[in-house]
Amino acid sequence: MKIAVIGTGYVGLVTGVSLASFGHSVVCVGRNVDKITDINGGKSPFYEPGLDLLLQDVLRKKQFRAVVDLQRSLSEADISILAVGTPTIDNKIDLSEIKEAAKQIGEALRGRKTYHVVVVKSTVIPTTTEIVVKPLLEKHSGKTVGEFGLCMSPEFLREGNAVEDALHPDRVVIGQYDKKSGKTFARLFKKLHTPIIFTNLQTAEMIKYAANSLFATLISYANEIARITETVPGIDVVDVWKGVHLDRRISPGTSHYIYSGVGFGGSCLPKDTKALLRFASLQGIDAKILKSVIDINTTQPQRIIVLLKEALGDLKKKRIALLGLAFKPNTDDLRESASLAVLDLLLFLGATVVCHDPRVNKNNKRFKDLPITMKISAADAIEGADAVVLLTAWDEYKKLTPDVFRKKMRKPVLIDGRRVFEKEYFEKSGIIYKGIGL
Ligand code: NAD
Repeated sequence: MKIAVIGTGYVGLVTGVSLASFGHSVVCVGRNVDKITDINGGKSPFYEPGLDLLLQDVLRKKQFRAVVDLQRSLSEADISILAVGTPTIDNKIDLSEIKEAAKQIGEALRGRKTYHVVVVKSTVIPTTTEIVVKPLLEKHSGKTVGEFGLCMSPEFLREGNAVEDALHPDRVVIGQYDKKSGKTFARLFKKLHTPIIFTNLQTAEMIKYAANSLFATLISYANEIARITETVPGIDVVDVWKGVHLDRRISPGTSHYIYSGVGFGGSCLPKDTKALLRFASLQGIDAKILKSVIDINTTQPQRIIVLLKEALGDLKKKRIALLGLAFKPNTDDLRESASLAVLDLLLFLGATVVCHDPRVNKNNKRFKDLPITMKISAADAIEGADAVVLLTAWDEYKKLTPDVFRKKMRKPVLIDGRRVFEKEYFEKSGIIYKGIGL
């Protein structure tokens, strides 16, 4: 089938490339000419393991290309997939990209004779497809839904594992306006042995929020338990989770999210929990769990400061090395990363901050004008530090030995924000080890 994907971000590009690898003919529509040129040259504008290779493969096979011209790409497509951003601004979902894209798709459908299905893949608050997207499509196309198809199919890929998730999804959720829309869209997944569930539009929208809020809740719950264990001498939260995870009702599966750390970040969980909380309150629901989840997550980076102060006292002019800036390993995504919250708190307290991340571009505009030093290796960042804080659990950090810290640091204080180092081994090797949940 011929598909146009609107958006060349994490979801749009990964979706487009994976659908192309299933044998469909895909055009991804973006707005930035430089990025489009990079993509057509086989280079993704962001880091995602395996993506460049798959992209190069589908480009070679002429199954995929990226363009800026939405109107033309839509004129040939059977299906268009909206994968534009839906950020949360001031706790409210911002639908401006969705609205603009729906308008453009509507315009492209005007006068079209053949059937076309529009699929909303962006995460949107329940009823958005029906109340916001559908009227825009109808207004600008001059058609009534039914003449064109409409689906809402949320995306569940995880950054850092996105290619694998897109190629082998656990399930495909298809919220359908009518059966014809759903059936046409489902044809895309004919070759996959993946369960497909058909729902109405608003249920599909809600499934995404329910899933993301559950993951966020598990993480904040793990951090609340960590706060309690920190008040009781002799309990290490890592041992607590080992004991909990062995329960067959929990592992394998959700245990992946039940770890204590510095909190969740990224482009989804923080914004989606806030958007759902706001939606709930508009619906007259006092969503107490969501409120607590967000509150615990927002305050969790402060735990790092408490631990640093316990070890070093006043942090003014202390040289603190931050290992890891991305919100999780295997991505360069900084959106709402807990590392940035820690970084901001340290700068506010007058600390001297040096940072390292294996993938984050040091020229990222988030760092512009910040008085920080970016180092090209973890060892460089550690050199001369009064304390090192591990914030993203990259594999390369897990290989750091106590020796590196002891030899290079002014004082071997290690704050483990993700509990990746073995406490006893590091302490025995002369490291002053502190971590979440100890
Ligand atoms: P993103 O911000 O990385 O990418 C969106 C892209 O769409 C941007 O490059 C933007 O320039 C482009 N765009 C916006 N309007 C356009 C238009 N009219 N024409 C062409 N391009 C346009 O966002 P993302 O992380 O890819 O997320 C997209 C959606 O998917 C969001 O709703 C998000 O919540 C959801 N989602 C994201 C993830 C994830 O891990 N990133 C996972 C599941 C769902």
